[in-house]
Amino acid sequence: MKIYLRPFAALLISTLSIAGQTPSVAAAAAPLKIVILGAGGGPPVNNQKYGPAILIEAGQEKLMFDCGRAASMRLAEAGVGQNEIDKIFLTHLHSDHIISLPDMLLTGWTSGRKTPLQVWGPAGTKEMMSNMLKTFDFDIHTRRDVDEKFSAEGIRVAATDIGEGVVYEHNGVKVSAFLVDHGPVKPVFGYRVDAGGHSVAMSGDTRFSENLISHAGGVDVLIHEVAPATVAEFMGRGQTREQAESIVAHHTSAAETGVVFSRVRPRLAIYAHGGRPADVAEAHKSYPGQLEIADDLMTILVGDKVEVQRRPAQKSN
Ligand SMILES: [Zn+2]
Repeated sequence: MKIYLRPFAALLISTLSIAGQTPSVAAAAAPLKIVILGAGGGPPVNNQKYGPAILIEAGQEKLMFDCGRAASMRLAEAGVGQNEIDKIFLTHLHSDHIISLPDMLLTGWTSGRKTPLQVWGPAGTKEMMSNMLKTFDFDIHTRRDVDEKFSAEGIRVAATDIGEGVVYEHNGVKVSAFLVDHGPVKPVFGYRVDAGGHSVAMSGDTRFSENLISHAGGVDVLIHEVAPATVAEFMGRGQTREQAESIVAHHTSAAETGVVFSRVRPRLAIYAHGGRPADVAEAHKSYPGQLEIADDLMTILVGDKVEVQRRPAQKSN
């Protein structure tokens, strides 16, 4: 079924366990470095997979996409200072995707950020960030004006309510947003990052989306969600049947991801925010290409080769 595959002559997928965060030679050379900060879903049920957040490094640029639970802690584990992040792109405003935003706003600042925190996201982002500054007014006032006298510029926020299209372009890195379909939750965006002739697309939360397929065409890496649990599993966590069916209906089934991957034909597809071995098997019924399930701190180096590095297995709770 080579019709689904792009030439793989230059492709090397290697799954390595790396000790610590020692950057490899490939890391320095890769036009795109993707770090899955959090590969998990909403509730804190697995301390191996925290909330959704992705770091993309391209040259001097360090861009964060979503900001789920404990994103700041995974960022530290990835060897990136809190103060190094001043650009965050949000797929949508569901709390599991943004709950660490105050942490990044405030801890980044008290760790030395001297530039405003720039935040891009769907309608409502500007107002949310304005309200966040009000919520933390005591801390901001005290640390900026009274005690430590941290940078006034560093606690400013530059928030943008985005639409489809290019939302950021600097240092040869282009970030484009495209609408996806998260049911009645609107608007929700996926993002595509292009740099150095390479590219990655991220689905955000979505059910099957034709718009994603058209915008993700030709990417090296496609990071896509898949329904994180079944109706029965959600009911076991306390949801009513109606709530559980609604949640599942607003995400992409494993079979549908196979269709998405087979049409986008990335060099590597990755499940994040869900994904189990049974889902991979289901997707492979229509998609014969490379597909991996993300772990926290999984790193993907994208250049002539696509190289996957994973941290050693941790003890699970
Ligand atoms: Zn959502």
